[in-house]
Amino acid sequence: MSMSRCPKPECGGFTFELQELKVNGAQFRMYAVQCSACGAVVAVKEFENTNALVIKRSDDLEQKISRVAERVDRIARKVGVV
Ligand SMILES: [Zn+2]
Repeated sequence: MSMSRCPKPECGGFTFELQELKVNGAQFRMYAVQCSACGAVVAVKEFENTNALVIKRSDDLEQKISRVAERVDRIARKVGVV
């Protein structure tokens, strides 16, 4: 596998870092993936990992729904519906 390199020919750096990027007018905070040597930006990412947030929210909702379902079962048994 070839190694990723900085796109600036005069640099040729091969290590990269995340740097918070201020973008005027942007609704969300962003990260720049930049060359550690010269700062050339090679990619821009959302500050938060949206996929991870969606998965966490989904897990939280599943747990809440499960707790509500347990309570409904208990109530149903008490009133003799089940
Ligand atoms: Zn560079």
